[in-house]
Amino acid sequence: IEAVVPFGGSAVPIQNPNRHILGGKGLGLQEMGSIGIAVPPGFTLTTPLCQIYQQTNDLPTELWEEVKKAIARLENDMGKKFGDATNPLLLSCRSGAAKSMPGMMDTVLNIGLNDETVKGLASATGNPRFAYDSFRRLLDMFGDVVLGIPHEDFEEKHAALKKKYDAQTDLELNADHLMELCQAYYKVYEDKGLEFPQDPFEQIQKCVRAVFGSWNSSRAIKYRKLNNITSLLGTATNVQTMVFGNLGETSGTGVAFSRDPGTGEAKLKGEYLINAQGEDVVAGIRTPEPISTMEKNLPEAYKEFIQNVNALERHFKDMQDVEFTVQEGKLWMLQCRSGKRTGHAAIKIAVDLVKEGICSREEALLNVEPDHVKQVLHPTFPQKVLDSPQYKDNIIAVGLQGGPGAAVGKLCFHTEEAEERSSEDLILVRENTSPEDVGGMWASKGILTSRGGVTSHAAVVARSWGKPCVCGCSDLEIDAQNNIMTIKSTGEVLKANELISINGSTGEVIRCAIPTESPTVDGDFGTLLSWADEIEDSCKVMTNADSGPDSAKAVELGAKGIGLTRTEHMFFDHARLPHVRAWILHGVGIEKLCEFQRSDFRDIFRAMGGKPVTVRLLDPPLHEFTPPLTSVCESMAKELGYDDVHQLKIDIEKMHEENPMLGLRGCRLGICRPELTTMQVEAIMNAAADIIDVDPSANPFPRIMIPLVGNVREFEHQALLVKSTAEKVKKERNKNLRYEIGTMIEVPSAALQSEKIAATKDPETGDFLCKFFSFGTNDLTQMTLGISRDDAGEFIPKYNELGIFKKDPFKTIDADGVGWLLRLSAAKGRSVNPSLSLSVCGEHGGDAASIEFFDDVGLDYVSCSPFRVPVARLASAQAAL
Ligand code: ADP
Ligand code: MG
Ligand code: MG
Repeated sequence: IEAVVPFGGSAVPIQNPNRHILGGKGLGLQEMGSIGIAVPPGFTLTTPLCQIYQQTNDLPTELWEEVKKAIARLENDMGKKFGDATNPLLLSCRSGAAKSMPGMMDTVLNIGLNDETVKGLASATGNPRFAYDSFRRLLDMFGDVVLGIPHEDFEEKHAALKKKYDAQTDLELNADHLMELCQAYYKVYEDKGLEFPQDPFEQIQKCVRAVFGSWNSSRAIKYRKLNNITSLLGTATNVQTMVFGNLGETSGTGVAFSRDPGTGEAKLKGEYLINAQGEDVVAGIRTPEPISTMEKNLPEAYKEFIQNVNALERHFKDMQDVEFTVQEGKLWMLQCRSGKRTGHAAIKIAVDLVKEGICSREEALLNVEPDHVKQVLHPTFPQKVLDSPQYKDNIIAVGLQGGPGAAVGKLCFHTEEAEERSSEDLILVRENTSPEDVGGMWASKGILTSRGGVTSHAAVVARSWGKPCVCGCSDLEIDAQNNIMTIKSTGEVLKANELISINGSTGEVIRCAIPTESPTVDGDFGTLLSWADEIEDSCKVMTNADSGPDSAKAVELGAKGIGLTRTEHMFFDHARLPHVRAWILHGVGIEKLCEFQRSDFRDIFRAMGGKPVTVRLLDPPLHEFTPPLTSVCESMAKELGYDDVHQLKIDIEKMHEENPMLGLRGCRLGICRPELTTMQVEAIMNAAADIIDVDPSANPFPRIMIPLVGNVREFEHQALLVKSTAEKVKKERNKNLRYEIGTMIEVPSAALQSEKIAATKDPETGDFLCKFFSFGTNDLTQMTLGISRDDAGEFIPKYNELGIFKKDPFKTIDADGVGWLLRLSAAKGRSVNPSLSLSVCGEHGGDAASIEFFDDVGLDYVSCSPFRVPVARLASAQAAL
């Protein structure tokens, strides 16, 4: 692969441009050039050079010859010379990795200006004001990016000069003022003992190095970490001919999305500024105008712009985010990429693009990220709350719609503090945000700023994370030093830690905590998920649910059944606990527990109709239900049938285990206290029969799952007991109740002898006893890795940092170890019983990356918590595509 790849102008488009090599910006420029869109000509220095730069802290000397040749082409195309004293070519040097990292890395504009060329630019354009403005920007950016001089040092001089000449805005400074400003900027260099290189080629060399170096700036590293961006080669560096949006009233610059990134509406959404350089829009220095006004001011350029945007959507089959500049009426596209969007927008756009014939259903499914689906399942303010006085009368300010959704939390004015208090619900309030703030933004529930538009840093980052954001709320005066903010129009003062709510969908700020609501799957969301379900050979998605309401919610969210009911959750209820304890401690009153469970199972079967309901027999060690010794008292002892507190304490202490996770739990309970298994199976089967009594057409489908089996005889013991009990109930109730028996595979030894477990037969009928395996990946991970899930939090972050783990194995399946066992077990099981159903229950069932693995193994379904069901439906379709 070439190190230097030209684009735009006379460049011949390259075959199969590769995002990893060119970076996203380089790829966009390359593709725009190839479909005939005007981009300022330039060239990409590819990402492998960034790796070389990281390893050697330098770039190969031969590279500079290539760069010289590439610049010569630009000179030819533009009819100007780099470093020419009469009509100089100027260049920009722009970072751009394969994945977008907004504002994290550096860009330098107007390279090629010096004390001589600036005069040439002034006379060539007849616009000395413009020339010196461009030069002072270069001095600022070069100082900042290449030499590490804080931008504020230059800003200080800028502000001082404005004050000196009584200028309210930058535009009031004339050429002489700006010339004076350049001298002041030189002074900043001088005070630091640093020098601005006059040689244009030396400038370009230093800028290229600095841009490659910005890959490893601490904020870029932090951003990659927060966003889990790994496996990139580095950034590319794009060197590009400068075009100017600040050459007067027929010039301008802007950014736009081809569709609304907040709602997905098919309407161009963007902002632009007449007579400005791009930086001014992004940095939120001047408040830009909506893109629609460009139609009036620059009609020709606007028309071409619309054509470009439409062509790009069709070419990339996705919503685009573009940057452009108009120089004296001529439109130049500077950047395009798939636009970041909210979950709601992602779903609407995907469905609309299919309707408009721009992409296929499969392509649309691949354009929605599991995280988008997660976002849509975030809370919102329900309509009835929006209409209530509690909401309406407490609106204290209205800003711009930075990122939709509802957030409620305590006011926090400092980024570092938000990071430290990340476990609390906070709303981060800032004048505006910069890349230094990403840690605090991540830690907050929502973001509120007083300055900056809908493409400001705060809004862009918030939307990409699905965080509600209200930006540009100019009625706020934020005094971070004193931890207060004032509503200017009313004088109301709010202090740190006061509860507020923000509505990113309307821009409203509310002075109190407003209740939120969780959403449902209908409209476009439902359409998209139904397309996901239609993808052949994808894993089905079931849910983990322990109650009627949870089951109903899961069905609403598209679950095809229950993959795991944890029966222990039925025992923790306040009213039930004394009975549970009485049975555990003296073995009495198990009928009572049977009653409780039977009624819960009825609720679940009712909610699930004829869908499978996989019930796990009791799993945790029984001492989880006994009271903590410190809470034991006279009345509790009496309630549990003890004459004396002391004896109760002794009985509780007797149940203590050193290693409860490996103690008396799972099927070991049912083996040591078989009445437990009998009771549970009776409850399940009777509940199923009860349902049919009420509605003879009902067809409940219990599947009874034996946990923590480690050896085939454990399984056999419990399976036979389950079977005889189930058959007994069938006879008693005189009903042909259907049911299945299966086991969890969560102990490594069970995985290793899966063919034996799968082959177990009922000695009477000769039928297979085991109809399904469900991989309990939580325990399987703990036991295979020998890492306790509850204690791993202490060192997993360190392991991730050192690269020992790529991902937290309790979130994403450890494919090499745990995954290998799972694959082995699946193969062994199916080798003796080809119709054995295989599935996963456990946290991994809702994790997109794990689902990809499970799909590859060929599992029939995954099971996850109800709110993860839609995410899993999408992930499972994507895995199969
Ligand atoms: P980022 O990746 O942070 O968006 P860019 O490389 O896109 O950085 O540069 C920031 C801004 O600088 C762009 O939005 C654009 O307005 C301006 N810019 C960069 N290169 C050029 C160029 N060759 N001509 C005109 N403006 C440019
Ligand atoms: Mg950009
Ligand atoms: Mg388990």
